[in-house]
Amino acid sequence: MPGFEIFGEEEKKEILEVLDTGVLFRYEFPEQRKGIYKVKQFEENFASYCGTSHAQAVTSGSTALKVALTALGVGPGDEVITQGFTFVATWEAIFEVGAVPVFTEVDETMNMDPEDLKNKITDKTACIIPVHMLGAQANVEEIVKIAAEHNIPVLEDTAQATGGHIGGKYLGTFGSCGTFSFDSVKTMTTGEGGMIITGDEELWRTMSEYHDHGHDHIPNPGARGGEGRRFIGFNYRMMEIQGAIGIAQLAKLPYMIEAQKKTKSRLLETIAEIPGSGVRKLMDPEGDTATFCCFTLQDREQCSRVNEVLRAEGFGAINFAENTWHFYPAWEHILAGSTPIKSGWPFAEPGGKRRVVYDPTALPKSAELIGRTLVYPVPVKMPEDRLDAMCNALRKAKNA
Ligand SMILES: *Cc1c(COP(=O)(O)O)cnc(C)c1O
Repeated sequence: MPGFEIFGEEEKKEILEVLDTGVLFRYEFPEQRKGIYKVKQFEENFASYCGTSHAQAVTSGSTALKVALTALGVGPGDEVITQGFTFVATWEAIFEVGAVPVFTEVDETMNMDPEDLKNKITDKTACIIPVHMLGAQANVEEIVKIAAEHNIPVLEDTAQATGGHIGGKYLGTFGSCGTFSFDSVKTMTTGEGGMIITGDEELWRTMSEYHDHGHDHIPNPGARGGEGRRFIGFNYRMMEIQGAIGIAQLAKLPYMIEAQKKTKSRLLETIAEIPGSGVRKLMDPEGDTATFCCFTLQDREQCSRVNEVLRAEGFGAINFAENTWHFYPAWEHILAGSTPIKSGWPFAEPGGKRRVVYDPTALPKSAELIGRTLVYPVPVKMPEDRLDAMCNALRKAKNA
């Protein structure tokens, strides 16, 4: 998964170009920066890589979701549908804009179940956020079709699947917009950082202005201080150093995905020897980023036994039913409505009335699937002897 494995001369060179100008801000300083606009370049490269027209860099994958939701006009009174298996940030962003998260089951893709989505749409649904979890595609074409029937925009949370595609069409370009994260454990990283892509110029313009206090970025004699604004905004700007690192990391992304694919296919070959094992459904194996290797066992008991053997061999896998950050029944703070805000917002209205109550047993299908699924993050660099040892551990788990 991690771009941090392959930092090298390319990143250093890009960073030094920024330090040589001394301009860390993405706007302004036209003379001093000598034509160097790293964040802008990163945006252009990223949009072009994904085959779309516009990209907006921001401070994180979380703020990318918030900026995108805001630009789509989502706010208090709205419901946003996402999946119950995701990183908690997807839900947090929905709360951040004042809307309420509604969640669906996941299907064999480990992502939003389009059938359950149909059950969850109401006249309050203002946006649908499928998440391309663990490096691979949600059934996004079906989801976009259902959303279109109801005239609801789709925002693809692509934080974990940068570079993934379906039939050559890049994830993040199926819906109205797609968001990405470059935090320190994502496939490509800028330490912290995020991106939103869209083919809709007007939507991009709204994001660009909102993420920078409403600045309209129209050159005028007063320079930045003289710019106009159409609406209130906030500050989610990316720094030039992050843009510089992003340029170097994006150039390495195809190599990273290829390397991960090789390792993953070795692992899957070995996993297939475990009786009763299955693989995660991929919408397009070619377009998998291979950032994670997921496999299922017959039931939770077999899954625990297999993982016990793997742990004893030093190769324990992640079982997301045991992890506390990615599946909502383990989010005790959200279930309890814990917030530092005295009024109880966003879980309670200003008068104290509870806005949302979440039932931890509401997604039996997801719980069953996640409970018998094991997941390995796939490194970019995997020494041959370590991969052999991992495959040996998997073989030892065959009769667990
Ligand atoms: C990492 C992640 C985010 C948040 O990204 P940050 O850059 O860490 O804020 C959002 N959604 C998903 C699915 C993620 O994995």
